[in-house]
Amino acid sequence: MAQDKFDFRFRGGRLCLDFAATLGGRYRGGVERLRSADDLGRWFHLALSLERDVPATAQNVTAAYELREAIYRLVHPKTRERPALLDIDVVNAWAARPGLVSELGSDARSVTLRSDSTAEAGLATVARDAVDLLSGPWLVRVSECAFPDCSLLFVDTSRPGQRQWCDMKSCGNRFKVRQHRSKARHEAVRRG
Ligand SMILES: [Zn+2]
Repeated sequence: MAQDKFDFRFRGGRLCLDFAATLGGRYRGGVERLRSADDLGRWFHLALSLERDVPATAQNVTAAYELREAIYRLVHPKTRERPALLDIDVVNAWAARPGLVSELGSDARSVTLRSDSTAEAGLATVARDAVDLLSGPWLVRVSECAFPDCSLLFVDTSRPGQRQWCDMKSCGNRFKVRQHRSKARHEAVRRG
């Protein structure tokens, strides 16, 4: 399972939230999933269902961290009511740049990424998704996973709007197991 440790998380329901999730475990020191230019190129590949990795540089990774943290602060329920101008500037600067462009293949069914696609264009695409989210009706539905160790953000598109977990199968179940254990411990103590 060790090789799965740095698998990306796509539980946010939005491109920009999944991008914010590339830094996980924020309450326990942080798990950095963008450790290299290759990681960034692979993230675009997976997040945008492209046919290949996007070429990226170390400089792109530094820019990715800056954009990611600006987005995280702007959308997070605890900080979004006090948006920092600096964060807005970072998102706007990237959103103003040309984004990734896909084109139809010769069969008119498949989609390929333009061969000149870059990580910069990928960051612009992420920033534009953040602009849409921040200025649209779904921002109020962006929540943080309720599992204590999990810091992932997701947009709750369910009708009742009471989703608690980034993923029921992982965090939801982990929570149930934890509750069950603490109940069992409680009862053991009571029995003496
Ligand atoms: Zn979670």
